[in-house]
Amino acid sequence: MKFSEIAGHKDTISALRDIVDSGRIPHAILFSGISGIGKMRVARALAQYIHCHNRINGDACGVCPSCLQHKNFNNPDVHFSFPIIKKDLKNPISSDYIDKWKEMLSDWSYMPPEKWNELLQAGNSQPVIYVGESEDIIGKASLSSYQENYKIFIIWLPEKLRPEAANKLLKVIEEPFEDTIFILVSNDDSKLLPTIFSRTQRFNLHPLSENDIASYLQQTLHVGADLAASSARIAEGSMGKAEAIACHPDELLEFSDLFKEIMRMAYALKADRLKAISELTASMGREKLLRFLSYCNRMIRENFIYNLRLPQVTLMTPEEEAFSMRFSPFIHEGNVEALSNEISRASADIERNANGKIVMFDLMLLISQWVRMPKPNPLGLNG
Ligand SMILES: [Zn+2]
Repeated sequence: MKFSEIAGHKDTISALRDIVDSGRIPHAILFSGISGIGKMRVARALAQYIHCHNRINGDACGVCPSCLQHKNFNNPDVHFSFPIIKKDLKNPISSDYIDKWKEMLSDWSYMPPEKWNELLQAGNSQPVIYVGESEDIIGKASLSSYQENYKIFIIWLPEKLRPEAANKLLKVIEEPFEDTIFILVSNDDSKLLPTIFSRTQRFNLHPLSENDIASYLQQTLHVGADLAASSARIAEGSMGKAEAIACHPDELLEFSDLFKEIMRMAYALKADRLKAISELTASMGREKLLRFLSYCNRMIRENFIYNLRLPQVTLMTPEEEAFSMRFSPFIHEGNVEALSNEISRASADIERNANGKIVMFDLMLLISQWVRMPKPNPLGLNG
């Protein structure tokens, strides 16, 4: 990964380049920010830049032996740590899952956590970083590097370190070996051990602009201009989300039609039709159903904003907006929170593998109840 391949984050990249060029690289660096904005890409580009034998124009050369190893994820002085599950392993460490990890880095470089869970086949278990990983890191850190000036440890989601693992890691971050650099990539640094947090030099990465997202989708993923623009518009600054939308273009249309149908039928209280829809959605399978529920939640939120007469800050495609012109009055301060909570609760139930048909039918009936609720009149004045 070269700096030039990264969408956005120009200021961060420029600061990182200066740090490396000046030879004053901190022993622990933390990249923070929401999921899907390319923090891992920045971390990988930084590691490659540090190791590159022939830096040119403020970037890695991309062709020296070290760069080629970085490209193939096999530079012996780069070590990745990430959350995993136990399965049948007694004392699992990241390298037990290295093949899946390489697949993730090459195919899903914006690192959507749900994709990682899918690759791990985690089911209901929450991946974490076990204490064995910290022991493994300490062991590797104490050895001299194989070929490069620095050994680089990239830790994805350090907020998932088990407490004993975090405490072990803290020791080696507090008293690092001269030639060791830790790069932490966090989606939620408020959950990091404060003593680790305070030892790092922190870079807060911001959500990407619509332009950055749209041009990346067009140039790198060869997505058509219209789809790239609508995906970027509704992705809330996350390339991970934009990619998921752009990769399933038919899904966006399908979800939009389904959402409209549900809202119409819910308002008209057509229970038999709602039952049929709940069966249809349940048959989507877990991952797709979760994407659909997340779509519904976004539409509820956007329609509420639209109803507040703030169409300029809504994030909708033109088709969605056309529907909202008529539908948005039905989403107001009296039901927006309840609707959003019910949809989130349904998502949580689906994540826990509850029966999809039952969860979805319950949800449909609750939506009916809430969407038919008239807009409250705070002054009690009637016309
Ligand atoms: Zn190079």
